[in-house]
Amino acid sequence: SMEVQEASPRSANSTNLQVHGLSETIVGVLGGGQLGRMLCEAASQMAIKVIILDPMENCPASNLCHYHMVGSYHDSATVEEFAKRCGVLTVEIEHVDTATLEKLEQQGVDCQPKASTIRIIQDKYLQKVHFSRHAIPMPEFMQIDDLEGAKRAGDLFGYPLMVKSKRLAYDGRGNAVAKNEDEIPMAVNALGGYTGLYVEKWAPFVKELSVIVARGRDNSMLCYPVVETIHRENICHIVKSPANVSWKVLKLATDVAYKAVSSLEGAGVFAVELFLTADGQVLLNEVAPRPHNSGHHTIESCFTSQFEQHLRAVVGLPLGDPSIKSPAIMYNILGEDEGEPGFLLANQLMGRALRIPGASVHWYDKPEMRKQRKMGHITLVGPSMGIIEARLKSMLSEETEDDQ
Ligand code: ATP
Ligand code: MG
Ligand code: MG
Repeated sequence: SMEVQEASPRSANSTNLQVHGLSETIVGVLGGGQLGRMLCEAASQMAIKVIILDPMENCPASNLCHYHMVGSYHDSATVEEFAKRCGVLTVEIEHVDTATLEKLEQQGVDCQPKASTIRIIQDKYLQKVHFSRHAIPMPEFMQIDDLEGAKRAGDLFGYPLMVKSKRLAYDGRGNAVAKNEDEIPMAVNALGGYTGLYVEKWAPFVKELSVIVARGRDNSMLCYPVVETIHRENICHIVKSPANVSWKVLKLATDVAYKAVSSLEGAGVFAVELFLTADGQVLLNEVAPRPHNSGHHTIESCFTSQFEQHLRAVVGLPLGDPSIKSPAIMYNILGEDEGEPGFLLANQLMGRALRIPGASVHWYDKPEMRKQRKMGHITLVGPSMGIIEARLKSMLSEETEDDQ
């Protein structure tokens, strides 16, 4: 009786038209990895339809979404075809064809967050230029084009020097450290040569923090509690919520995150990765225009998960309460080995987790196991951080109850 694939979403009670359920807006997601999968899980609870564009037939979201279009989010014609099927277009990965998204926006397609936001964020150098214009505190940075330029940056910023790819970075792939001038060529080679590189001054952080910020279609904004992220070889490994830092640092981190997201356009959740230095400064590392690994704990530990929040935001429902129900630790299940031996180790870990009170196991069902790949995660909630830490320790110790 009515058009369901509408371009401008409406909330359940802001229209005269009858809506059966919370929202009839079909949410199209570019990417069907674990973030897409968890968006589908949240959508299922509210009976919001999510469709996915991902090139992999058996991507993590494929079995949970309403419809999976097998194709590339780098391909213009494919993205255009996909856009026709959804009421709002969003992303679970920032490495998408933004020229096409900008063109689609001009034709009236509703992208949330805005194509301009994804365009700025997907190029880390452009992102840093953008945030420096908005006076967001960050490590100093500089584009490099050749060895001369890199040496000049090294003289200016000192060593170790962080060399980064502007584009297509994730899980630390795209980062290389030069400990001194002689190591510059090695670092640059590891990133495939001088095209598309820039350098950052080393941030002598004592902790890494993250804040998820949500913005609704009505421009209302809410911040999740500050969390601490612990990386292993550049990959997020453990997240502790809430972060154990002074209220002053909590306030500063939240303010920086709020200000950074305020400078970007569109609805959705954003993750703001931050460095905390010994002297109490908070510096921005990078922003993700989507749900983020540092927000996985929200599924069990906050009143509204980041995934539900992202859906609420993009379809135009009121934002939910981001506050904490319980302290939490999120532990990423990273591939320890290739193939079968890797699966065996992951299964042993999950088996131990199932015996831990307050532990929830998430397995992304990726078809292939690779070293250092994010295969799943475990969230532990409990009455206090001390108790959760002890439970994590017992989960990670090889001895199971049966062995004792
Ligand atoms: P993600 O998976 O978060 O998208 P990424 O590939 O985009 O990762 P970054 O976030 O740039 O990589 O860096 C990964 C990690 O490397 C950071 O979390 C931090 O531990 C370290 N790092 C990055 N930049 C710096 C810096 N300027 N100084 C010191 N350490 C840094
Ligand atoms: Mg990144
Ligand atoms: Mg990062």
